[in-house]
Amino acid sequence: MNFDQIRINVRNMVPEVVHDLKELIRYPSIAFPGYPPDPVHRMARATVELLRRYGLSTAYAIDIPGGYPLVYGEFPAPPNSPTVLMYAHYDVQPAKKDGWEGDPFTPYKKAGRLYGRGAADDKSGIIMNAATIRCFEGRPPVGVKLVIEGEEETTSHLHGFIPEHPDFFQCDLCIVTDNGNLTVGDPVLTTTLRGEVSCRITVTTLDHPVHSGSFGGPTPDAFMALLRILSTLQDQKGNVALAGLASSQWEGSDFPEELFRDITCIHEGVDLIGSGPLSSRLWSKPSISVIGIDAPTIQEASNILIPKAAAAVSMRISPGADPDHEVQLLMDHLRKVAPWHVLVDVRRISASPGFICPTDGPGYILAKQAMERAFGKPVSEIGAGGSIPLLKILKRTVPKAEFILWGSEDLALSRIHGTNESVDIGEIERMILAQCLLLNFLSGKKE
Ligand SMILES: [Zn+2]
Repeated sequence: MNFDQIRINVRNMVPEVVHDLKELIRYPSIAFPGYPPDPVHRMARATVELLRRYGLSTAYAIDIPGGYPLVYGEFPAPPNSPTVLMYAHYDVQPAKKDGWEGDPFTPYKKAGRLYGRGAADDKSGIIMNAATIRCFEGRPPVGVKLVIEGEEETTSHLHGFIPEHPDFFQCDLCIVTDNGNLTVGDPVLTTTLRGEVSCRITVTTLDHPVHSGSFGGPTPDAFMALLRILSTLQDQKGNVALAGLASSQWEGSDFPEELFRDITCIHEGVDLIGSGPLSSRLWSKPSISVIGIDAPTIQEASNILIPKAAAAVSMRISPGADPDHEVQLLMDHLRKVAPWHVLVDVRRISASPGFICPTDGPGYILAKQAMERAFGKPVSEIGAGGSIPLLKILKRTVPKAEFILWGSEDLALSRIHGTNESVDIGEIERMILAQCLLLNFLSGKKE
């Protein structure tokens, strides 16, 4: 199939693709504990049915012990052809009704975008992959494995399944369709992800609360001590102030400051913090924040000295950094800077690595070309702030595989995990086109 034929096939498919994506959005497939399991199972069945209807007749649901099913299907590779694994997930984030313009699970279209929970993250990925199969009329030019997970947004049981069943995941190129461009129509490939580490610090100074009038002055307050400790985590400019952390300069394109302010809705006049290019601060340097505090609320406030206070500290780490090393530096720092010999207990909560996607492999180079052709623009490289633990497991299980991180979820407007999540319909079409072209290129065709 040549470029023109692919383009026509994709264009003709759009109305049905949008209709079917709408149907997928109607399932509140929230896999979090405490939410009804039935819609998640129905969503898994709907995904199997969709894939079969789009030409993947081998699609079926695999039971994942302790978790929700994995939807899987494959086309064996034609002789001398590579195998591509395409990943998406069918579970979604919870969505409270308030803040949404309509019901989160009743899709609607507005100004070229389709709205609803999961419209972008990541039901757009499912439809992209299904449409890629359909474009080739159920006969893709390379081997294809489709992996649609049901627990990406919550504790994933797939992580344990992968190393025990490596055959399902063997491939030459792994495409993760759970990403997207910064803005609609401007193609990017995500090449790195930062990792994340976190710990909890508890400061104790007294056995029990005492009257601040009678004892305040010489008696250390645990909350004030904790604040002194936390205030050492950043320098005056807002850079992470821990010695010895891995950090690097971002080499790809920069993140335009105006767009960044727009997306994050930072209040006017509030400074951006840290130094160096915005892209480095977002994608290649560490950042740190306090994500929770245990101390009396204002409601509970009384004139006492607080005997015990605790905080959870989370740090994003440079993509190539060793998470065990970085979390240790953080914990050592917190203990070291404690004032007045107060009692400090620091415990590790988590340490997950980032990810670096090599950009010199043949698959990556072809993906860039396919995207350039589909969008009619040069492709730039970005990082991502969040981490995807699955990638590390896939990399360990299939060491030879290359990785492509792309998708239809634009950062500027999609509002994934937020209210009024949406996806741009033109972007889905361009991404299906790019993915079909990539499969064509991988089979040795020049267009
Ligand atoms: Zn996702």
